Amino acid sequence: MIKEITAKTILSSAKHPDPWFGIKYTMNLYRGCQHQCIYCDSRSECYQIEDFAEILVKVNAIELLKNELPSKRVKGTVGLGSMNDCYMSVEERFRLTQQALELVARHHFPVHIITKSDLVLRDTDLLAEIGKVYAAVSFTITTADDGLAAKLEPGAPIPSRRYQAIKTLSDQGIYTGITLMPVLPFIEDNEENIATIIHRAHDAGAKYIIASFGMTMRDRQRAYYYERLDRLFPGLREKYEKRFGDQYSCGATNAGKLEKMFREACARYGIATRMTQYATEHPQIQLGLFDPGTHSGKA
Ligand code: SF4
Repeated sequence: MIKEITAKTILSSAKHPDPWFGIKYTMNLYRGCQHQCIYCDSRSECYQIEDFAEILVKVNAIELLKNELPSKRVKGTVGLGSMNDCYMSVEERFRLTQQALELVARHHFPVHIITKSDLVLRDTDLLAEIGKVYAAVSFTITTADDGLAAKLEPGAPIPSRRYQAIKTLSDQGIYTGITLMPVLPFIEDNEENIATIIHRAHDAGAKYIIASFGMTMRDRQRAYYYERLDRLFPGLREKYEKRFGDQYSCGATNAGKLEKMFREACARYGIATRMTQYATEHPQIQLGLFDPGTHSGKA
């Protein structure tokens, strides 16, 4: 179900840019997400989204942004994709992301987008324009297997389409890479999956892969995930319960070994494992090391 709502504000500011993507301002134009990934941590109680399948469209978002963006003294990176995918299919109709990017371009702010959708290609010209300051597009890919992805991320375009989009954006000179997170224990945490993701990233021209070997789980998110596991992978829930109990941070099997293999393979292909371009151009930002297994993946 799609419902139109009005918001009070649209940009939330962090005191310091986050160490992964350098995001200073977070913007969520929608609430809920049509991609319905079974592992999504936006279902957690702390976010107070009662029905994650209901899509709320902030119809006054652009009016708010027109006032809020020019009032920001620091031209920090605007991040899209933290609580939902800003290119889910509802965006075709409402075009809030496109209009927001037009404002970002007009006011010369840098931008970072995380998405699973090739609808982002619609805005290639805009991103190229913003890229004169800084634009990065990170595609989340947790498995290279289209069939498995259709089970885990049922509303999102399949990984093959995401790789095609990476290639198109890269060919246009837009800074593009992959967020490889989460890596779901017992499902995606095998060397073959990680190696295939990296190999195809190289073929598509991805400049970086940011990985986190594991997942996080809490309250409603865990309940939903386990209910889906029961339907999709009978018997797997019991393995999770045995290994992780109530833990928030649930590491991949052999996370250390996988990470080592990941770093070696990326080095062989010349793919960065952090966002080097941002660090180079914004030396005041100290990029931190990732904490494997503590991120659940968004967009
Ligand atoms: S993980 Fe991202 S794309 Fe998937 S449902 Fe959550 S917000 Fe949407």
